[in-house]
Amino acid sequence: MSALPGVGPKRARDLEKLGVDTIADFLTLWPRRHLDRTTVTPLWQVAPGGPWTVRGRVESQQEHYLGPRKSYLRVRIGDGSGHLEATFFHATWLKRQLAPGTEVMLSGKVELFRHRLTMTHPEVEVLDGGRPPRLGLIPVYPLAGDLKQRFVQDLAEQTVRHWVMQVAEPLPAWLREREALPERPWAVLHQHFPETPDDLEQSRRRLVFDEFLRMSLAVLWLHRPQESASAPAFHADKTPLIASVLDRLPFALTAGQQEAWDDIARDLAKPRPMARLLQGDVGSGKTVLAVLTMAAAVGNGYQAALMAPTELLAEQHGTLLSQWLEPLGIPVVMVTGRGKDAEGLERLANGDPLVAVGTHALVSDTTRFGRLGVVVVDEQHRFGVRQRAQLGEKGLFPHMLVMTATPIPRTLALTVYGDLEVSQIRGLPPGRKPIQTVHLPMSERRSAYLKVMEAVKQGHQAYVICPLVEESEEGQGRAATMLAEGMRQIPGWRVGLVHGRMAPSEKAAVMEQFRRAELDVLVGTTILEVGVDVPNATVMVIEEADRFGLAQLHQLRGRVGRGPAPSSCYLLADPATQEGQARLEAMVRTQDGLELAEEDLALRGPGEVLGMRQHGVAGFQLANPLKDLVLLERARRVAREILAQDPELASEDCQGLRQWVFEALEAALPSHVLH
Ligand code: ADP
Ligand code: MG
Repeated sequence: MSALPGVGPKRARDLEKLGVDTIADFLTLWPRRHLDRTTVTPLWQVAPGGPWTVRGRVESQQEHYLGPRKSYLRVRIGDGSGHLEATFFHATWLKRQLAPGTEVMLSGKVELFRHRLTMTHPEVEVLDGGRPPRLGLIPVYPLAGDLKQRFVQDLAEQTVRHWVMQVAEPLPAWLREREALPERPWAVLHQHFPETPDDLEQSRRRLVFDEFLRMSLAVLWLHRPQESASAPAFHADKTPLIASVLDRLPFALTAGQQEAWDDIARDLAKPRPMARLLQGDVGSGKTVLAVLTMAAAVGNGYQAALMAPTELLAEQHGTLLSQWLEPLGIPVVMVTGRGKDAEGLERLANGDPLVAVGTHALVSDTTRFGRLGVVVVDEQHRFGVRQRAQLGEKGLFPHMLVMTATPIPRTLALTVYGDLEVSQIRGLPPGRKPIQTVHLPMSERRSAYLKVMEAVKQGHQAYVICPLVEESEEGQGRAATMLAEGMRQIPGWRVGLVHGRMAPSEKAAVMEQFRRAELDVLVGTTILEVGVDVPNATVMVIEEADRFGLAQLHQLRGRVGRGPAPSSCYLLADPATQEGQARLEAMVRTQDGLELAEEDLALRGPGEVLGMRQHGVAGFQLANPLKDLVLLERARRVAREILAQDPELASEDCQGLRQWVFEALEAALPSHVLH
């Protein structure tokens, strides 16, 4: 990028942070949104509401002080036809830019404040000497480092217009016409510089279709060899071994669990690899199904692997599985960072029937399986194409069960995972009481900790989750350490601490103490987010809860309410944004994972919710996989059609597509798999 005028090494580095290394990357640096400046309204026509774009001259400005270091700026503009005031909080730096006499353009909503038309924090463009005002739909780009919006806009203006004709059109003309899609270069250009909202929508349709098509082709192409792959057929239903596993459970399966198990057992009995997604809300009891599925493999003389998202969870699963399975003669081998069990690894390589538990290193590193029959993936809905290809590369086509608490629509699951069936565990185990959820301002922090004290007195346990510090586990770990230090001063509390920077063995030891109720309070970071299961813990306190995402809060809260005693969750926060406030309100209002997922989607957009933005093959940038389901289905159908006609994408017409698919796959796979 530094070859372009105005882009020095510093700006080139900042652009790299946005994923822009080349001009081609820059062409697909999509605006986050567009400012509507299609019409400038004379001030006399402006009424409360909007948004409006207005133009005028600064007539006066005034700084108002709210406290020693708090002030706001009020600016009055006029255009000869009327007046308007604009208010800016914490923005003293605007004082100079908006000096009286300056000509400005403002965009924003208008309210009536003390009988005066007012915009609060409008978008401002200073129209100083000679710069023509920007009108129309103005792209607003993501920024990084010291990049300024105006600079990126100018760069786009020069670069995109100049290079867009070089953008390839991989879709054959007949297909584009049949699907009524605009050409890709047109779509790229109009995603940056639409002339009308309709341009933007047409452009988006094409680009979203492309994202889906590319992914569908890649997934279908990859799964070709597996269509014919065979897997061992297992007797799973009503075998003596499964009966004894069920006998040893301290509870009976719920109806929802039984239904899901029926689905799984039916799949396992077929000589084709199962590919099933098991969805069930936090606490619905998915682990038991993993246990049954793995026991079925071992009962049939095969090996089973359980992959957990964190070592902490792998250890917990290991402990549980040893308790439940070893008495039945099923050995459990841990494959985690905590010292590998050399003898266990050898037995794995030999093909002895047993269960291996670890993180996803289980499939990706050098662990060898002699006779792998089943892989269960816990809480990693992102597990997909790449890992399956890695297994396939080792000649392994096991039955696969992916478990997740995140609701994923079926079509999307199909696209991300290939041919995947979906089971849903409906309902929760009996006797669960709703988790009382309370939002408290930071000033009432004390009352949350009094609840912790009460619970500890009654022999229950509590979690305290530390605020996210700059989204880094390191910072959060520091905060956790400090909080734990403070709490250790409280007489009568046995306080433990876990964070991601601790050695795996240390983490495991603390968790074990907590599980055995040798600790009353566990202070931790988001590594406690998924899977941790200690039914005696009944209180959770989340510090600065507004910093967490909704899905994360829901998962965290799911650590309590796992036993018969009533549980509560305290969200401590003085939310700084409306969105933060909305998330807390949603948490207080409902405990339904599906409802929260929908709310999350509305608040944040889909890419982040599914953790799929910028994620290899699964990378959607513009697509909203939940809202754009119709386009997704169309793209998937087209992908099937194309591959049916030309399985190798060898024809002249398909060269662009072939290139595309390989690029997509290369981003996700080690290149030797492809060649
Ligand atoms: P998740 O779906 O979140 O992974 P878990 O498998 O950890 O849920 O189960 C949550 C808790 O519910 C555990 O303590 C588990 O022992 C318990 N549990 C699971 N199934 C049942 C059941 N059928 N009846 C009663 N308790 C159950
Ligand atoms: Mg779980």
